[in-house]
Amino acid sequence: KLPIVALCGRPNVGKSTLFNRLTRSRAALVHDLPGMTRDRSYGRVTCLDEAGDPTEVFELVDTGGLDFDGADVITMGITRIAEAAMQEAHVLVLMVDAHDGWNPDDAEIAGRIRVQGKPSILVINKIDGVRGGSPDSAFYELGFDEVHILSSAHGDGVPELLASIQAHL
Ligand code: GDP
Ligand code: MG
Repeated sequence: KLPIVALCGRPNVGKSTLFNRLTRSRAALVHDLPGMTRDRSYGRVTCLDEAGDPTEVFELVDTGGLDFDGADVITMGITRIAEAAMQEAHVLVLMVDAHDGWNPDDAEIAGRIRVQGKPSILVINKIDGVRGGSPDSAFYELGFDEVHILSSAHGDGVPELLASIQAHL
């Protein structure tokens, strides 16, 4: 059984975009409107092993996708289903949106992650959309030891995130 990594974050921060990039899945759909995601929620991430052969290394869960699979939709937070995914995960990733800047929902989800007491990583996404290339310093007050600044859409910073996740598995 593969270790599980849960991708958390409020709607529209770019979770499905990163999920698709990491799982290379074409099944998942990305829409411009928040709450419009109709994607797969679980996907396997494959990396090259030491011999250069593709190997499945972890299962990625898009907790945002789970929000819309269940009947129990809570627009301002995450559902019990997403909470269950966080409980079964080995590593938790919180994604925030550098273009939008800090949002109180980010802090809410960060709190839910913190109580799990698991390895956790902050991903500041959409850095391509930020003038000057420096994210909102408030993101650093969310209390994560590990922070990655990247662009899921363009791919910059994604290999470094993958290495960081793998270091916790
Ligand atoms: P989700 O609701 O968290 O799954 O977010 P999506 O992956 O559906 O993305 C929401 C919107 O943000 C879409 O229009 C994406 O194209 C856009 N997006 C995602 N990642 C990036 C990024 O790195 N840079 C920019 N500029 N836009 C992005
Ligand atoms: Mg989505």
